[in-house]
Amino acid sequence: MNEYIWKIKHFRWKHEYSVKIVLFILFSALYFLLYINMTSISLNFHNFNSLFEDDLQFYSFYVGQGESSLVISGDTAILYDTGTKEYAENLCDELDAILRANGISEIDHLILSHPHTDHTGGAEKVLSRFKVQNIYRSKVLSPFEEYVDGYAVTSDLDYIDVIDAIYEENANIFFIEPCVVDIGDAIIQFWTPQDVTYSDENELSPIVTIEAFGKTIMLTGDATGDTEMEFLEVLGEDELSVDILKVSHHGSDTASSSAFLEKIHPFLAVISAGIDNTYNFPAEEVVDRLYEAGVNEIFVTKNEGTIGLSLLSSSYREANCFIFHDDALMLTLYFLIFFMIMAVKFPRKKRYCLNYKNKLC
Ligand SMILES: [Zn+2]
Repeated sequence: MNEYIWKIKHFRWKHEYSVKIVLFILFSALYFLLYINMTSISLNFHNFNSLFEDDLQFYSFYVGQGESSLVISGDTAILYDTGTKEYAENLCDELDAILRANGISEIDHLILSHPHTDHTGGAEKVLSRFKVQNIYRSKVLSPFEEYVDGYAVTSDLDYIDVIDAIYEENANIFFIEPCVVDIGDAIIQFWTPQDVTYSDENELSPIVTIEAFGKTIMLTGDATGDTEMEFLEVLGEDELSVDILKVSHHGSDTASSSAFLEKIHPFLAVISAGIDNTYNFPAEEVVDRLYEAGVNEIFVTKNEGTIGLSLLSSSYREANCFIFHDDALMLTLYFLIFFMIMAVKFPRKKRYCLNYKNKLC
């Protein structure tokens, strides 16, 4: 009889601890699965090669104190601005590597936001290195431009060469008003400024949304608070759900108002700013406003260099919802749940002891 009791006890001990061990293994697997997903953004973010197979990619190139962003949607390349002249060669090299890796031979759509050298300084180099199919700019001209015989001419010496290069390129040139362009894999929506009385060329920057594969990317150039107000008027009661926001004007406090951010619900934000820039961009107020608006992560080129984000391969929207920025908290939670599992006492089951005069073992 004693041997029988021992066997019953032994069986239950084994049963109880087997369940606990299985539970612990399942919990650990779930934990590490979530942890891998959670860190996938930063892994992708530093490694171009891991992005190349994704159908929707976003890049913000390091071009000093300037801006150049690339969206790859399927086999279509959309370039927004070309950065500074100083970084043009480097930009073209990185652009070339990314396009080649994606089997893309030309830039399908080039958007030039406004005639400032930090956004169009690299345009000549880009136009000389790559075939460009379509070039877009706002229909509204800067104070230094005028239409002559259907052509835009400028008195801005820095911009003359860019305009010449644009007209020399055998591309379709669009002076755009607010419109939607269906490019197959994606829809590009131009929310261009319409007020013709702008004195600040930054205000010419079109706010552009690119919708593809169920995701939305918003590019803003150096759009100002006034440009944002026009955008909000057109948007009306609607709201957007923006997955990646390229923050306007290098993170300057002159844009990214709370009213604007609350209507577009950005999930991730990217800021293009130069190392040791004299403006001290990005402004702390903008960073605070972005986090207050619910942004999960802000990436800045002056800290990271050229940034690449993969939008589809890591299902980052779901994964990032679980981001814990405090590793100590994650570790504490892990061990807390481990001890909780191990401390669970399983209820005794009488059926093991029915043959022992109904006494519990
Ligand atoms: Zn700028």
